[in-house]
Amino acid sequence: MFLDIAIGIYVAAFLGRMIGFGPDAWFFIGAILITVLPDSDFLYHFLKRKGDRDRINDHSHRDYIHYPLIYLPLGTLIFYLFGGKEWAFLFFFCSFLHFVHDSIGIGWGIKWLYPFSTNNFGFFYLYSRKENTSPKRILFSISKEQMGYYVREYGDKDWFKNIYLKWHPIAIVEYTVFISSIIFLLFYIL
Ligand SMILES: [Zn+2]
Repeated sequence: MFLDIAIGIYVAAFLGRMIGFGPDAWFFIGAILITVLPDSDFLYHFLKRKGDRDRINDHSHRDYIHYPLIYLPLGTLIFYLFGGKEWAFLFFFCSFLHFVHDSIGIGWGIKWLYPFSTNNFGFFYLYSRKENTSPKRILFSISKEQMGYYVREYGDKDWFKNIYLKWHPIAIVEYTVFISSIIFLLFYIL
């Protein structure tokens, strides 16, 4: 979430440079909203199923919007039709980087190739509740059946608390980039 907000801010500023226009406040707000948008279903589930002991990790909420092959072209087209080139680029890059972010660390990847494959794909490193047991590999391809194993081995029902309310490396990276983006934004608009 924190990293997503930072991604939105940097993408908006970067696009302004690349395409040669001055992003206004709406462009920055839009960028942040677009970048967190794929997780809006998570908020819904989180509020609805609060306290549900079965929700072991973050991956289960990613079944509705986290399909890049469908979401990216469709959303980019819609933003192009209603907002033009700048907003289409904004939607594409913010959403794409959200999916990349989701593929490293928490949540154990997303279904990058859906509808051609229902496997979750992740990169480099997957979060584990037990320190120093995080699986590391360049590319993870996890089938639905294997996901059960990952949930048992590495799942953490208190992942939010254990990452964001403690000095977990993932949280440190996210907070650092987040704070830097806020400072960047202040300098940008002042
Ligand atoms: Zn997500």
